[in-house]
Amino acid sequence: MNNSTSKAFFFDLDNTLFDYEASFKQASLFAFISILHPVLNKPINPEKWFKVYKTFCDLYWPAYEKKMLTREEYQRNRLVSSLLSFNIQLFDQRQMDAFRKRFEEEIPSFVQPYPWVEEMINFIKMHGYVAGIISNGESVLQRKKLSMLGLSFSESHTYISSELSFAKPSIELFNYVKSKICAEQFYYVGDSFSLDIHPAIKAGWTGIWWNPSKQIPELLHPNLYNCQSADELNHVIKKCIE
Ligand SMILES: [Mg+2]
Repeated sequence: MNNSTSKAFFFDLDNTLFDYEASFKQASLFAFISILHPVLNKPINPEKWFKVYKTFCDLYWPAYEKKMLTREEYQRNRLVSSLLSFNIQLFDQRQMDAFRKRFEEEIPSFVQPYPWVEEMINFIKMHGYVAGIISNGESVLQRKKLSMLGLSFSESHTYISSELSFAKPSIELFNYVKSKICAEQFYYVGDSFSLDIHPAIKAGWTGIWWNPSKQIPELLHPNLYNCQSADELNHVIKKCIE
């Protein structure tokens, strides 16, 4: 095997290469102001609405994650509950659909890569190593985000769950990528310990945890790096490349 293809670095997308929470807020506010605000029978301060909306996003998330709510029910519940908090009843399905559609159309336009992303990916490629993406999510949306981020990953190095028959945290996804890529060592960089890092380690990869919120790791493992700052992440990537 050619030494230049002996290492492969894959990245998660949301909250790893860009701040998803920031773009979620901007796109939600955009959809609220353009779709809902004009039809509400009493004005709500958009920032105040978003604060409540975010609370319900977090409140309903575990039920959605456990598949007790469908994606549609999750999106509906968080919106309806946020408006009910302001004594507004919105049960018009068309308006709710329009809100969701506008949000999904707009979110890619608000994504901005973290400052270190481009240089890090170029550094990996410069050494002749593979740099790619493994992301959960809907194909069109995730690909739009990638293009708005201005990051060029080869098609053969881009893996999106909705285009495959498995999603993180399935170990099969990591095994599948491994079977497709000619490399000896595999590294995965992600922000979620349970979705990204734990399955990657279980699949025999090295997990590089992008952990700026300084969460406590659920386990210690020789193939786990815990990076709490961009400097630490840069240092680890360089160490893995050498
Ligand atoms: Mg993520």
